Amino acid sequence: MTMAENMTTHSLAASSVKLPSGKLLINGELVEPLGSANMIHAIDPATGHTIMSFAACGSDDVDRAVKAARACFESRAWQTMRPLDRGRLLEKLALLVEQHRDELAALESLDSGKLLAVTNAIDLQFTIDGLRYFGGWASKINGEYVTHNPLVPEDAIYRAYTQRRPVGVIGGITPWNFPIGQAIQKLAPAIAFGCTVVLKPSEESSLTTLRLGELIAEAGFPAGAVNIITGYGAEAGSALVDHPQVSKIAFTGSTATGQRILAASAATMKRVTLELGGKSPTIVLADADLERAIPGAAAAIFSNSGQICTAGSRLLVEAPVYDQVMDGICRIADDLQLGSQFDAATQIGPLISSRQRERVSSLVETGKKEGATALSGGKSGDGDGWFYRPTVLADVSRDMTVMREEIFGPVVCAMRVEHPADFVSLANDTPFGLAASIWTSNLDRAHILAERIDAGTVWLNTHNILDLAMPFGGSKMSGLGREFGTEAVHAFTEPKAVCMRLEGAGAFG
Ligand code: NAD
Repeated sequence: MTMAENMTTHSLAASSVKLPSGKLLINGELVEPLGSANMIHAIDPATGHTIMSFAACGSDDVDRAVKAARACFESRAWQTMRPLDRGRLLEKLALLVEQHRDELAALESLDSGKLLAVTNAIDLQFTIDGLRYFGGWASKINGEYVTHNPLVPEDAIYRAYTQRRPVGVIGGITPWNFPIGQAIQKLAPAIAFGCTVVLKPSEESSLTTLRLGELIAEAGFPAGAVNIITGYGAEAGSALVDHPQVSKIAFTGSTATGQRILAASAATMKRVTLELGGKSPTIVLADADLERAIPGAAAAIFSNSGQICTAGSRLLVEAPVYDQVMDGICRIADDLQLGSQFDAATQIGPLISSRQRERVSSLVETGKKEGATALSGGKSGDGDGWFYRPTVLADVSRDMTVMREEIFGPVVCAMRVEHPADFVSLANDTPFGLAASIWTSNLDRAHILAERIDAGTVWLNTHNILDLAMPFGGSKMSGLGREFGTEAVHAFTEPKAVCMRLEGAGAFG
């Protein structure tokens, strides 16, 4: 199919997508922004056409959303709500999302350029699973009985226990690469563990979060439990971070923004979890099953057009199989079909914005100037949208800009590794520490390497497998704290120690 035919399919599909009203969710009501709000255009990345406009909220809208969340959090009704009933709220939302699954998937794909089939199978499934997973947690949060060591031996006994208390109002700030999934990643644990929340999606892809607001209103959450505002990071985002009534920022996005948030949070001593960028290595050892490793390494970087924080963007290959791996990965890169996110034949959709494509393109050009060779791609794709060809850069060295900076596009930097002893130092030679994958048929080498690589997640013979039960987050510049699994309990609650003195034990002999 030609790009022109592909785009005819696109226009038809795009025109039938159901759009949200654009209203904010504040204090249980779908409302218009206050007078001062400017508008942001949602753009279809495959065509550059405007889809609709929504509010660029200022600090006044942020303030009323936070006050609604705070009032709900402090209300007797919220404080005494049975955990099972908080879980039921999430289940109700899960049912509504399920009911509107195809509609939400189409909206997400239109707004973000993500392939429709993948959005439906991965993003929407993660959203529904996330609501149910955390809904189940709501009624299973326990404190601990503490074995006490009294300092003064006297006729008194101390008994102590801990409770896990909700942190308070959560400001959830999300990026554009997994919009609805990220919204749930913040919202679901917040509600499950008794917090309330104000969500601010990325200005690049806010539409499914706005639609989620409509479904939350329909599900009948208590007023103020979940609030949704839209806007730019520098205005709405930073107003949320600075607000004294927000107790914690749960952030996913770039390392630069994460650093800004961490610094700004000091003023109000906010708690933060930061899920940030990456430059993850894909390590292919000479004994790997190349039938699996080559497509695995390609998928690790080219899925979602490389716009995945854990993308395998540095490919480190043991010398004896380097040429074979490069042949295979270049063949895959050359064959991948770019096009409309709605066309079932498309394998790579557009990047999110022209700005992002310029960034990817300029980093690739920098790489070439510094001595890298583009064996595949290295240029924009055809059409009006923000397409970029899957790119394989070889002849890279560890100090090159392309090896050190997160590109966040379909660009892999490949290195031949002559000595196995170099794998650990090469893999760890990055400011980031989000993820890594190791491809090998040798169990010993797999586990020894897994232990030595400094990353939040290490995959063996697979890549980009996330699970709600597996802790997720990064070391070094890739973030602070972990989400998912039991770690989410710690991220959204704080322990309170309660200690009681019992008198008169002597009376019983
Ligand atoms: P970004 O940092 O530009 O924006 C993320 C969010 O932060 C947006 O909602 C934005 O409006 C907001 N923001 C921007 N400036 C702000 C400020 N000063 N105060 C408060 N909020 C502000 O990131 P992006 O470009 O949308 O997303 C891509 C980045 O996200 C990549 O670096 C990627 O690696 C990272 N990411 C990380 C994970 C993870 O779990 N580790 C997951 C997905 C994406």
